[in-house]
Amino acid sequence: MRFAGPTGTGTNPVVPLLDLSAMSDEIHDALELAWKEVSTSAAFVGGPWLERFEDRWASYCGVNHAVGVANGTDAIQLVLRALNIGRGDEVVVPANSFIATAEAVLLAGATPRFADVDADTLLLTPETIAPAISPRTAAIIVVDLFGNVPSMDAIARLADVKGLALLEDAAQAHGATWRGRKAGSFGVAGCFSFYPGKNLGAFGDGGAVVTDDPDLARRVRSIGNHGRLAGQADVHALAGTNSRLDSLQAAVLSAKLPQLDGWNRLRRAAVATYRGLLSPTVRTVWVHDDVRSAFHQHVVRVPGRDQVRRRLADKGIQTGIHYRIPCHLQDPYRGFTPDPLPATEQAAAEILSLPVFPHITRLQVEHVASCLNDLVGRPDSHEG
Ligand SMILES: *Cc1c(COP(=O)(O)O)cnc(C)c1O
Repeated sequence: MRFAGPTGTGTNPVVPLLDLSAMSDEIHDALELAWKEVSTSAAFVGGPWLERFEDRWASYCGVNHAVGVANGTDAIQLVLRALNIGRGDEVVVPANSFIATAEAVLLAGATPRFADVDADTLLLTPETIAPAISPRTAAIIVVDLFGNVPSMDAIARLADVKGLALLEDAAQAHGATWRGRKAGSFGVAGCFSFYPGKNLGAFGDGGAVVTDDPDLARRVRSIGNHGRLAGQADVHALAGTNSRLDSLQAAVLSAKLPQLDGWNRLRRAAVATYRGLLSPTVRTVWVHDDVRSAFHQHVVRVPGRDQVRRRLADKGIQTGIHYRIPCHLQDPYRGFTPDPLPATEQAAAEILSLPVFPHITRLQVEHVASCLNDLVGRPDSHEG
């Protein structure tokens, strides 16, 4: 996948769903320096660049430990394995998420059980989680979908009462907060992806686990490094795998991290502009007052979504659907949750992700909003 920059055609700006080029331009000098230092140090796997980023990421998230891993899917999988959650265990995950949340559960050997989501926020709540809990449930994974954070106190209470591990998939929520606390810092561990398109993205794949539990951090690090004990390259105390964050990616992430809050502020400003311009008939996914969203996506709900999407594309506006087919209706996952999940299924038919990225211009937002207002104002006139 290429994250292309905008190219004008005629008088209309072409608006991509995501454009990363301006972010890379802003940190050009820091990147040059990082490349030079890593390439001459020869510490390509492990070493000071990784340690520096792990320290900075842990402190940014307000936790004691961060462990760099190969990607966000592995971050979740490794935490489950480190907690000895696997064969015979069930893990509750939201049906409206990127497939990786459920995929990681299967990779750990456990069974995903899909929960429905709240119709307004599209996030898990205690009420949607409860029906998915069985005597075999070992953990709940909440997802900070679109950069929004669920009501963590209520969900943590439920996990506590039921004796379940609570994990947070924060792969879309770098820098988001709930009541002032950073995404990723809730539950036993937070799992991040640094895929290029995320709010904090590497120049390739990457991920991290953050936690306050030193033993969990040690186990995740060991499992991701062939089960090695710290300082003993030839003792494999755990059955592990290879899942590490490259030094080069760690250096890129360290160069970008100082910009993350500013970039998230720009995302929030773009969403505020959208909200001022969009017609009241365009329903947006709701963000609670307790949350400062990272707006990884700005998602609206429109009737006749596929039609609207095609019309926007005709005007050079790229949109996304997150996600068109809910996880529990994807073939390999159909068997796990036989019941319908109405809120998820209804949302899947209506959701539309509008272009949002830090350097989107006011002109671009105005163009999208005015085209969308036109289309939802007279949806029937475009049938056929
Ligand atoms: C991106 C993402 C992941 C997986 O991250 P990868 O680095 O692509 O493996 C997991 N969960 C959610 C919600 C994501 O958006």
